[in-house]
Amino acid sequence: MPTQAKQQNQSISGFEPYKEVKGEEYMGKPMRAHFTKILNKWKQDLMQEVDRTVDHMKDEAANFPDPADRASQEEEFSLELRARDRERKLIKKIDKTLQLIEDEEYGWCESCGVEIGVKRLEARPTADMCVDYQGKASRQVIST
Ligand SMILES: [Zn+2]
Repeated sequence: MPTQAKQQNQSISGFEPYKEVKGEEYMGKPMRAHFTKILNKWKQDLMQEVDRTVDHMKDEAANFPDPADRASQEEEFSLELRARDRERKLIKKIDKTLQLIEDEEYGWCESCGVEIGVKRLEARPTADMCVDYQGKASRQVIST
């Protein structure tokens, strides 16, 4: 089974997996509340991370009067900025997803309309498809 370790960095810790009540409606009110909570917490964490980096860069930029030091510093900053850029995009995606929940359109595959499923959504709350189409290799494994 291809498991993507990378995904783990982005996952949300500290949440009890959702316990479905027998016969419960998929994406009924309690389920939507559960994912709203997860997404809001995730977003908060990301925003804190962005703030922290900006502060840290302000502090450090002042401490390198030597041009050579500054150059390597800038390189490091640009890497961090790229990471922050990814986080900002993720925050946008989270906002969009929260809107979907509000519109009661969350949890169904955007391309084929099936239920994405609680387990998969907990692993990847912003998932909007029932499978990941990016990984061709992993798709092959799934189909065998
Ligand atoms: Zn699908």
